Amino acid sequence: MSTDSAQPLPLATRAPAKINLGLFVGALREDGRHQLASVMQSISLSDELTLELAAGGGDVVVCPGVSGPPQQNLAAAALQAFREATGWEAPPLQLRIDKRVPVAAGLGGGSGDAAAALRLAAAASGCGDEALLGELARGLGADVSAQVRPGRWLAGGAGELLQALPAARESFGILVLPAARGLSTAAVYAQADRMRSARGWVELEALHRALAEALGDGTALPAAKLLENDLQEAARVLCPEIDGALAQALGAGAEVALVSGSGPTVLGLFAGAAGPDRARAAARALAAERRAAGAPAALAAEPIRAPLPVAAHAGDLPIRHNWRA
Ligand code: ATP
Repeated sequence: MSTDSAQPLPLATRAPAKINLGLFVGALREDGRHQLASVMQSISLSDELTLELAAGGGDVVVCPGVSGPPQQNLAAAALQAFREATGWEAPPLQLRIDKRVPVAAGLGGGSGDAAAALRLAAAASGCGDEALLGELARGLGADVSAQVRPGRWLAGGAGELLQALPAARESFGILVLPAARGLSTAAVYAQADRMRSARGWVELEALHRALAEALGDGTALPAAKLLENDLQEAARVLCPEIDGALAQALGAGAEVALVSGSGPTVLGLFAGAAGPDRARAAARALAAERRAAGAPAALAAEPIRAPLPVAAHAGDLPIRHNWRA
């Protein structure tokens, strides 16, 4: 493959977290994954990734804050999959991940890092178009594909059928209330299966269509009934502190409070152009209360509405991000 457009190292990019604007869950498929209908929205809260030449033998991922051997990091698997698929023979590389997105929190942090690693490898090698990155992403995990090009995606199937939605014309604010401990996505799905009957295929199709219609013209947020999360009750059972965070978000002025993905992070949504400022003010207002309770600091974010570049230095990346109280 041509390396004409390869960009010199070091290269940096951001890996945005994702939230689900509506998460409707159907039956378990034969492949062990659940049918779903959802909108995946990338947000400004993001990890920062830097790819550079390594001093030693093989590729290495450095990711403080994520336990387990570095080679089990999803971003390491992404780098390896990219090398195998393209035959890219770069010298050993170091991928550094500065985690800002809470881990095992229902914010798609690991998937976002894997997708960002693919973008960095493509830029550094000059190989790999979006179709190849999409294919590699599908092999890495359910949520990775939608994060290859951070933005707003309508997801169907078991999350692998993706349709691009226009960016929100107007921003909105997102108050992010992380929990002290993470939740395993598999455990939350298993708990949900025990607690509730799956939505039928016809109902899921109708919800998928309703989300497409609600957001197809760049409307910022769907109506509250489309913002439900079918995993919320299961996450609440496994992590009772969620209830306090839902109350905190509503008490701080959010129009809607919901669990993010499989939880346990709670989101408060603030509609309208003033929403981002209101979410920041809410995070500030909750700072003392959360500190006193030993809870992680509240964060504020907004949706990503413009393409995310790969840059030579992290400081060159233009989006406002990672605001914390
Ligand atoms: P999901 O994408 O299933 O919603 P999540 O957002 O709840 O997942 P992640 O932050 O992706 O959770 O972490 C899930 C697990 O993945 C962690 O417990 C960690 O062991 C593992 N992991 C592997 N690579 C990473 C990474 N780069 N960042 C965070 N976690 C990672």
